[in-house]
Amino acid sequence: MAMRDAQARVTRLRDYRAPDFLIDRTELHFDLRPGETLVRATLALRANPGHPVRARELRLHGEGLQLRELALDGRALAPAEYSYSDGELVIPDVPAVFELSSTVAIHPEANTSLEGLYQSRGLYCTQCEAEGFRKITFYLDRPDVLSEFTTTIEADQGAFPVLLSNGNPVAEGAAPGGRHWVTWHDPFQKPAYLFALVAGDLACMEDSFTTASGRNVALRIYVEPKDLDKLDHAMYSLKQAMAWDERRFGLEYDLDIFMIVAVDDFNMGAMENKGLNIFNTSCVLAHPETTTDLGFQRVEAVVAHEYFHNWSGNRVTCRDWFQLSLKEGFTVFRDSEFSADMGSRTIKRVEDVNLLRTAQFAEDAGPTAHPVQPDAYQEISNFYTVTIYEKGAEVVRMIHTLLGPDAFRRGCDLYFERHDGAAVTIEDFVAAMAEASGRDFSQFMGWYRQAGTPRVAVRGHYDAGAQTYRLDFTQSCPPTPECADKAPFQIPIRLGLVGRNGDLPLHVSGLAEGATDIVFELTESTQSLVFERVGEAPIPSLLRGFSAPVKLAFDYDRDELVQLLRRDSDGFNRWEAGNRLAVGILQELIADDLAGRPLALDARLVEAYRELLTDPALDPALVAHILTLPGEAYLSELAEIIEVEAIHRARQFARRELAQRLRPEFEALYTGNRSAESYRANAEQIARRSLHNLALAYLLQLEVPELIDRAWQQFDQADNMTDTNAALVSLLNNPAPQAQDHAREALGRYYARWQSESLVVNQWFQMQAWCVLPGGLERVRALLAHPAFDLRNPNKVRSVIGAFSAGNPVNFHRADGAGYAFLVEQVLTLDAMNPQIAARLLTPLTRWRKYPQARAGAMRAALEQVLVVPELSKDSFEIASKALR
Ligand SMILES: [Zn+2]
Repeated sequence: MAMRDAQARVTRLRDYRAPDFLIDRTELHFDLRPGETLVRATLALRANPGHPVRARELRLHGEGLQLRELALDGRALAPAEYSYSDGELVIPDVPAVFELSSTVAIHPEANTSLEGLYQSRGLYCTQCEAEGFRKITFYLDRPDVLSEFTTTIEADQGAFPVLLSNGNPVAEGAAPGGRHWVTWHDPFQKPAYLFALVAGDLACMEDSFTTASGRNVALRIYVEPKDLDKLDHAMYSLKQAMAWDERRFGLEYDLDIFMIVAVDDFNMGAMENKGLNIFNTSCVLAHPETTTDLGFQRVEAVVAHEYFHNWSGNRVTCRDWFQLSLKEGFTVFRDSEFSADMGSRTIKRVEDVNLLRTAQFAEDAGPTAHPVQPDAYQEISNFYTVTIYEKGAEVVRMIHTLLGPDAFRRGCDLYFERHDGAAVTIEDFVAAMAEASGRDFSQFMGWYRQAGTPRVAVRGHYDAGAQTYRLDFTQSCPPTPECADKAPFQIPIRLGLVGRNGDLPLHVSGLAEGATDIVFELTESTQSLVFERVGEAPIPSLLRGFSAPVKLAFDYDRDELVQLLRRDSDGFNRWEAGNRLAVGILQELIADDLAGRPLALDARLVEAYRELLTDPALDPALVAHILTLPGEAYLSELAEIIEVEAIHRARQFARRELAQRLRPEFEALYTGNRSAESYRANAEQIARRSLHNLALAYLLQLEVPELIDRAWQQFDQADNMTDTNAALVSLLNNPAPQAQDHAREALGRYYARWQSESLVVNQWFQMQAWCVLPGGLERVRALLAHPAFDLRNPNKVRSVIGAFSAGNPVNFHRADGAGYAFLVEQVLTLDAMNPQIAARLLTPLTRWRKYPQARAGAMRAALEQVLVVPELSKDSFEIASKALR
């Protein structure tokens, strides 16, 4: 079982030790040639002066490298003077200060893991975070070793006219045999995970930005020539992000040039390499004809996110990978604030909370739950999770809420000033916040160190005689794998009281007169808050703006929720009231379905929706969100035991009932929100389209010929991808033969028109993989055989296999277990090529404990089948073994 021991090797936070050696300067020379790339690295090393005893043994990371030459201070080392095995190059005795040079051969064209240097559609590119640089050359591949990089790339001039790396270009020239070279120098010290190289035949959109201090920065986005017309939105978003970071955080860009390159084969969304961001095409290309509103918003958010990393991640980086949320949580907070400022704050919050409550809460309740600052991992790639990113952002948001914007900004200023150019920890970040605000964060650190979603139960007591209203709070947190017994969290709960005519003024000691909003800090297991001079029995509006990532329980009756939905001054909580109302009603329907009782929809939901549909004064984007019933994933997360069919049937029933009873209102909404203006991805148009297409989705719950024809007309006439896809999805999921005929015709036309646009083909795949009608698995198998499908391309894998297994529960969890067998088969094929993507696909199976016995058994058996494979990657091994423990 030697293999298994190797797989189970665990890295622990408490074992952290500063590096024995530092690398002051790194000089790289890449000779890109078909069949073999030679990498020559010259490293200026010295023993870390921080250690009292100087280290003599040098250990460098290196994976899959063919060593050609190795020299120390210019002298070639004999094979007896070093050893290279098991991912490490060891030189037992080195001086205190020395230069090490190595030449290795690597094979980018055969690299299917998409880590290190690889090829995507003939283009050379890199992905080094977290541990990809060791697949390029021997190095101290850890984020706390920062070095100044000079990189020379040499390649064939005809095939690879564009040669890019980090920093500024400093020299270039021609080489014999039709080749050329370019040298780049990055003046900012950085860890190896931020290294990047790109070589290819690329077109470029160029623009510029003048920073607040008056420096001119060249902006360049590189793509395949055919995509040059899809860059306006990314460039616009980039300039907005640069200006916003100056305004909001006082942070300016630092190099003379900022580059983005779009790559089709990419494991993640995008990567913030210093000065040379590499993007998944799906996060940079946008055009009305080929991109949905959601796609436009994603481009804006991801461009901003990666740009913001230039400070939160690059200038100040992570000491080790346990600190991943230091850069990711903080940067997600920054990009979500940016999006909130660019569009609607309330809507952005609703979207973020939806993601958190479905994906992150489910992760926090499952076998792979981990704290925002984990204390151990087997494979760091498995920790690029919703917990590190989204919950990490929520934790930063709570600091912002506790401190207020001014003290928070002072904390950020102090953090960047104090740690510029350094690799630091989450504790350093919080210490800066504590120092700038004078607050004590010792209890707050529980948010970083304890996994699990806290539960807060609240009860209200109104005393009409004394005119007081008391809220009693109780907090608890279920056990998670790393810790059974949790200390109480410090939970900021923003709240108000709603009366007959809206918000009531709050009278609590210490609060300014006239305030209608308070941030209550829950720090004990139980705690109370008393309001004075409360003239009427109020309805509490709790956790406004979702001020903490907790599950809050309050025993609202449905009429109270309707009141909050009408009157709460907090937009988020209005949505939340509608959401709670719908959840309660759906849960009742699920229980009725399981008990074999006839289903009946509570008329209060219909009436509440009718009111929203006919009130022209309301924010259309918010209405669209309120009218969207909670998804099956969220209902599953809330369920004790996930009854897949009952959840699906109950939700479908509610949608159909709403469509039937509100048909005239939905028809009016549909017509009233059609627009003749030319497409723009602005908040106002997006809101209108979302209402328009929401109405269509409801109406197509009915098998009514003229409504089906309307969807077909929309498909036929749409001038933008949002309306096209909405029509196609409505047809695909409507079982009427007329709808299915239209859907077949639409799928054919869609593919014929867009087959050369890879990103559009991904959407075409995804919509079919999501189709809830029976026969999903057979349809997905057919898609895998489609010529446009490619298992080596992560976007294709996500659009078919990922979309099916994570987004089509009623077909994936079919009773005979065929969905699980299918997923195992795909994961095992993929595991040998691209372990990161394979391991990620396992997520739906890891939730097996929440399913009824027969399904749970089949899911468990599927995971066991993965685990017995002898050559399994450590990525998949970690996920499968944790899921089964
Ligand atoms: Zn990031």
